[in-house]
Amino acid sequence: MHERVPEPLKVLVEQLARLPGLGPKSAMRAAMTLLKWPLSETRRLGANIGELRDKLHLCARCGGLCERTPCPVCSDPARAADALCLVAEWDSMLTLDEGGFYRGQYMVLGGLLAPLDNQGADSLELDRLSARLAEGEVRELILALGATVEADNTATFVRNFVASRFAHVRVTRLAQGIPLGGEVKFMDRETLRQSLQYRQSF
Ligand SMILES: [Zn+2]
Repeated sequence: MHERVPEPLKVLVEQLARLPGLGPKSAMRAAMTLLKWPLSETRRLGANIGELRDKLHLCARCGGLCERTPCPVCSDPARAADALCLVAEWDSMLTLDEGGFYRGQYMVLGGLLAPLDNQGADSLELDRLSARLAEGEVRELILALGATVEADNTATFVRNFVASRFAHVRVTRLAQGIPLGGEVKFMDRETLRQSLQYRQSF
């Protein structure tokens, strides 16, 4: 960065530039915008970011983000307890649930297998999944991990993991509609509804 950029601004821009979708230039633009905001607004943004980690928790049951554990989804008695939808990250769960066509439970796997990025099986929440399936209520595990190479490898891994331990659980995965290379969180509602409706045994 230009040496005449004042230090406090430089520090902020460098941090902002680490966010997804923001390079150094757009980070600088964001920082300049913040400088034009009323002081109270800028302070509020800073406080909100600061409090984020204190106010948010991981749901002990599904691993999703929530204010109170268990989260509203896990503690909703109207949802079917025999279907568990496995997603890679919490934002996929959010996207799926916004559709309103799925009324079962969810679990967040915590990522996908990516050996090249050192993301092995120990980075996945397999203990949480095992504990949940061992309760005996779940009859179907729906893999909604996406259609990338990593998602495919992870799906195969999870299927084998479940098949060898929980023979009573049927493993399915989202069907047609998900384009190759697609991530669940970026799917539109209709595509997701169809791929859930026509899910296949896996
Ligand atoms: Zn939950």
